[in-house]
Amino acid sequence: MCEYKPIKCSACQLETPQKNWSEHQGQCQLTVKTCENCHIAYKPNDIHSQHSEIVCLREQFQQYRFAAQNEIGELRAELRQSQRNSYSFSFIKMLNIIFHFYFSRKSNRFVSITRSYSR
Ligand SMILES: [Zn+2]
Ligand SMILES: [Zn+2]
Repeated sequence: MCEYKPIKCSACQLETPQKNWSEHQGQCQLTVKTCENCHIAYKPNDIHSQHSEIVCLREQFQQYRFAAQNEIGELRAELRQSQRNSYSFSFIKMLNIIFHFYFSRKSNRFVSITRSYSR
């Protein structure tokens, strides 16, 4: 294989002879790598896009916080949903009130009946 055979860099679209290819990969500012820990894409040769341990940990923490917030949001939505579904609870409450009135009236009537009999 010819060592001058040009290889096109997929990041910067520049054609580089094969013999300089590994060198270009180490220098290309547009080469993008994905971090194994936080799965963020970064440019290892770009000074402004360096992925230090602190940047990585911060990214992981933000992802964790985002996931936790999502989970809390889901739990809140679930709670809201269950509160909305608890109309059955207020229905039972309403029935209780109706029964209470019904039976109290009945018992009043019962009381009045017993009163009239006791007269
Ligand atoms: Zn390149
Ligand atoms: Zn990372």
